[in-house]
Amino acid sequence: MSYDNNNIFAKILRGEIPCHKVYEDADAIVFMDVMPQSPGHALVVPKAPSRNVLDADPAVLAQILPLVQKVANASKKAFAADGITVMQFNEPAGGQTVFHLHYHVIPRFEGAALKPHTGKMEDSAVLAANAEKLKAALA
Ligand code: AMP
Repeated sequence: MSYDNNNIFAKILRGEIPCHKVYEDADAIVFMDVMPQSPGHALVVPKAPSRNVLDADPAVLAQILPLVQKVANASKKAFAADGITVMQFNEPAGGQTVFHLHYHVIPRFEGAALKPHTGKMEDSAVLAANAEKLKAALA
């Protein structure tokens, strides 16, 4: 399968549809997942087009992990999390639903199970507030 330039994250990257943005630089964007598996669930998205880790340029993979680490540390601080789960899915059989490479950064709390993947849509005001918290912790 090849990269589809009309996937939803490509549209967010082009500014065609909105997102609750936390961070952006020349190579990547970070925004809140609209169906969080835990409060504060964010997505770290390299701008370079690839479906997932299987077809990504190794240089892009090398460049994105330090940002994933930064966001993970900021997330732990912003949401007073006990831990962080980083997830990344590849192809439908691997659980992937949006076919532009991204890493999930999910705050975890002792005793709290993850909500379902692509479950309930979060309220926009909650996403906006969490984006602000994460932005402040990243600064
Ligand atoms: P994956 O299944 O790993 O491809 O993850 C895609 C993620 O994108 C899911 O967790 C969805 O909740 C999330 N998602 C889908 N559409 C949007 C959107 N427009 N803005 C933010 N997150 C989205």
